[in-house]
Amino acid sequence: MLTINQQPTTIIRRINTVVDHADRLGRCCPKSVGSIHGADTLSAKLIIKVSGMAIALLAGSLMLQVGTVASQAASVDKVGESGATAIAYYSRIAGDKNRTRLVVDFDRIVNFKTLFLENPNRLIVDLPETIFSFGNDGKEPVYGLISDFRYGAIAPGRSRIVLLTSAPTRIDQATIKPLGDDGHYRLKLDIVKTDQQGYREAIFRQSGNIGASGNVAYKGDRIKRQNTRTKNRITVVIDPGHGGIDGGAKSQKAGTEKNITLNFALALKTELEKVKQLRVIMTRERDVFVSLSERVAIARRNKAKLMISIHADSLKQKGIRGATIYTLSQEGSDTLAQQMAESENRSDLLAGLSVPEQNSEVVDILVELTRRETEVFSKQFARTLVSQLKGRIPLIKNPQRAANFHVLRAPEVPSVLFELGYISNLKDIQQMNSPRWRQQTASNVKTAIMNYLRPRIARGE
Ligand SMILES: [Zn+2]
Repeated sequence: MLTINQQPTTIIRRINTVVDHADRLGRCCPKSVGSIHGADTLSAKLIIKVSGMAIALLAGSLMLQVGTVASQAASVDKVGESGATAIAYYSRIAGDKNRTRLVVDFDRIVNFKTLFLENPNRLIVDLPETIFSFGNDGKEPVYGLISDFRYGAIAPGRSRIVLLTSAPTRIDQATIKPLGDDGHYRLKLDIVKTDQQGYREAIFRQSGNIGASGNVAYKGDRIKRQNTRTKNRITVVIDPGHGGIDGGAKSQKAGTEKNITLNFALALKTELEKVKQLRVIMTRERDVFVSLSERVAIARRNKAKLMISIHADSLKQKGIRGATIYTLSQEGSDTLAQQMAESENRSDLLAGLSVPEQNSEVVDILVELTRRETEVFSKQFARTLVSQLKGRIPLIKNPQRAANFHVLRAPEVPSVLFELGYISNLKDIQQMNSPRWRQQTASNVKTAIMNYLRPRIARGE
């Protein structure tokens, strides 16, 4: 077993061994995956023990690898103990624009449920808790009718595959059958192109079977009700973007956005918890999916005085770098802001939630007044944050922008979206992966928060 005295390189090597092993299992040796129950449980435990320290010690892209492996390992460990988690270790998509087959191999039999959604057309396959170890680093090649293939945790004990289809489809065949005689199973899903009318009708029929929407939104990490000691403290909500099945932006060098946002959010939490007057709430502290509306609800339930949503997206223009602070606006302040908002607002869709959030018509004049006041506060904080960060970290041109981000919509909670930088830019990747940069930037955010809140605390607001 590793101890805290061991060198990071040793840890990395051992972690890599397990990653390689997982890779091999995913690619070529379906039968040998069974060994994860036995020998690999040991490795998995080893990583869990190590991950906390590793996160403290390691810099660079390795951090992300550790994060990913650690979260997988945590689930792998459960397999050893309870046998409850399935492992999907092989997948293949084949076919053409009229008929496409998805094959997924599991280490055991799983119950699955399929569900069609539209706008955009998607086929959801709901599964029990599953570790996906396909060995392609989440970038599965897609063919035929399937234009996007993603998978991951959607709620505790539940996993999901989301297939974006380029046309309306129906299931021609869906089976799960033994693969050989050692308890492994193959899920085979044949989809064929259908017309929009038939698709609509199928969706209508399925809604009768499963209730209104089939919508599964994870309720967020349970928020403990605060006791009286927290009564006079001011609540700040930190919202690490993405999580679980929703990885956010991705790049080879940086890994996935969901890990970058969580790492920064945890650093910010540590900084903010040093301030006695603050009570810090996170919308997620682990690699779990939380819907956009649930993030907003967490801020509202906790009567937050400020919400900071953390992101690190990707742009086609690799040269663009630096941080941006966004506030809510119905119209984007520019095309970049609008682009960003559109891609962020797709989070729930890509995770397979059925009903995209709509702009609800504001009928209540009081809500409208609150919203306007909140907008002023949000902008004030954004300005304070920009001036605190200026000269300390790279900012993009006109770093204070506005667009219609769903996650900033709480009418009474001043909210900003802090885009740390772009994972499409090498220098930004480097700094976001540096624990030192994260700590210093988090400390600057803390200063900005206190500069913004202090007059309010003094006025007893
Ligand atoms: Zn994002």
